[in-house]
Amino acid sequence: MRAVVFEEFKTFPTIKDVERPKPRAGEVLLKVAGAGACHSDVAIYNDFEAGGPGAVPPPFTLGHENSGWVEELGEGVEGFNVGDAYLVYGPIGCGHCKACSRGQDTYCENAAKMPYLGVGLGRDGGMAEYVSVPARNLVPLGDADPVAAAPLADAALTPYHAIKQALPHLAGGGKYALVIGLGGLGQIAVQILKALTGATVIATDMKEDAMRKAEEAGAVTVSGGEGQAQRIRDITGGRGVDAAFDFVGVGPTVQTAAASMARLSRLTVVGIAGGTLEWSFFTNPYESVVTNTYWGTIEDLHEVVDMYKAGQIVPEVHRFSMDEALDAYRKLQAGEISGRAVMVP
Ligand code: NAD
Ligand code: ZN
Repeated sequence: MRAVVFEEFKTFPTIKDVERPKPRAGEVLLKVAGAGACHSDVAIYNDFEAGGPGAVPPPFTLGHENSGWVEELGEGVEGFNVGDAYLVYGPIGCGHCKACSRGQDTYCENAAKMPYLGVGLGRDGGMAEYVSVPARNLVPLGDADPVAAAPLADAALTPYHAIKQALPHLAGGGKYALVIGLGGLGQIAVQILKALTGATVIATDMKEDAMRKAEEAGAVTVSGGEGQAQRIRDITGGRGVDAAFDFVGVGPTVQTAAASMARLSRLTVVGIAGGTLEWSFFTNPYESVVTNTYWGTIEDLHEVVDMYKAGQIVPEVHRFSMDEALDAYRKLQAGEISGRAVMVP
C-alpha cells in the first residue's frame, strides 16, 4: 500500500510503497477514510531536531488525525463489525497509569518508556491506505461522514480540551474569549466557543479570508499589527478578555494575547512555535493564568463527536488524493490551506 512517510528530520516527506500493517493483539486494522494534515506534522518533519524538544524520531507514516472503516480484528478483539466507521484517538500511553486510566494518554506517566507518542507520532499513522490502532483508541462515528470527521481527532479535540479547561473563566454573562490563529484548529475553536459559552468571541488572523470565515461563525474580528492588544481591550470596554487561546504560539502572538488579558483570566498557548513571555508581579493582571495544553482525552473526543453529530462542529474539509498528499503539506506549509486538508486514499 502507499503511505506518506517521514524519513528524516528536516526533510520533506515522501510517498512510498510500504507493507500493509497486520493488526497485532488488541488492535484493529482500519481502511483509512480520511487523514488530516496538521501543522504539527510540519513541525515534525521541518522544524524539530533530533533529540530536541518535540522531536519524534523517524521513520514512520505521518497522520495523527484519522478516521476509517474496520477491516480486520487483531487477536483478542471483539465487539467491532467489519465496515463500521470509527475515529481514532491518536495518543497512546501505557494504558494503566493514573493519567491513562482517566483517558488522558497525552500525559501518560510512563511516556518516557513508551516507544512512540501515538498514531502518526512515532508509530505509523493514517496517511496511508490502512492503519492499525489499539481497539481502545476507537471512537464510533455511527452514520456520520467519516471523511469530514477526520479533523475532529486533533483540529477539534485540541481546542475542545483547551476550551473545556477554561470554561470556569467564561461562565456568566459579559465574558470575552480571544482566538488567535484561524486555521485548522482556530476555526473550530470559534465554533466550540459559540456552542459552549455565551462569551463574545474575538478572533484574529493574518489572512483576511480566515477572518471572514470566523465572522460567519459568529466572531468579532480584529486586524493585526501595531495597537492590536489595545483594539482587543477596547472591544471589552477596557477590561480585557477572560480567556485567550493562541493557536499560533510565536512571540508576537503570545505577547499580544498576554497584553489582552483581564484579571482572573486564563491564556492557553496551543501553537507550538516556541514564543516566550516575560512575567513580573506588577506587569501581569492579578490572578491571571498562562498555560499550555497538549491534545485531549478520549472522553473529550467522544464529546467532540457528539457535537459534530449535533451540527455544532462543522470542519471545513478540503480533500486531497494520495497522489496529492504532498501538495497538501506544501500548501499547508505555505499558508495556502483554509480549514483542513484531508487525504482521502
Ligand atoms: P494552520 O496552519 O491550519 O493554521 C494556522 C493559522 O494561523 C493560519 O490561519 C495562519 O494564517 C495563522 N497565523 C500564522 N501566523 C500568525 C500570526 N503571527 N498572527 C496571526 N495569525 C497567524 O495550523 P493548525 O493545524 O491549526 O495548528 C495551529 C498550531 O497549533 C500549530 O502550531 C500546531 O503545531 C499546533 N498544534 C498544537 C496542538 C497541541 O496539542 N498543543 C495540537 C495540534 C496543533
Ligand atoms: Zn500511562
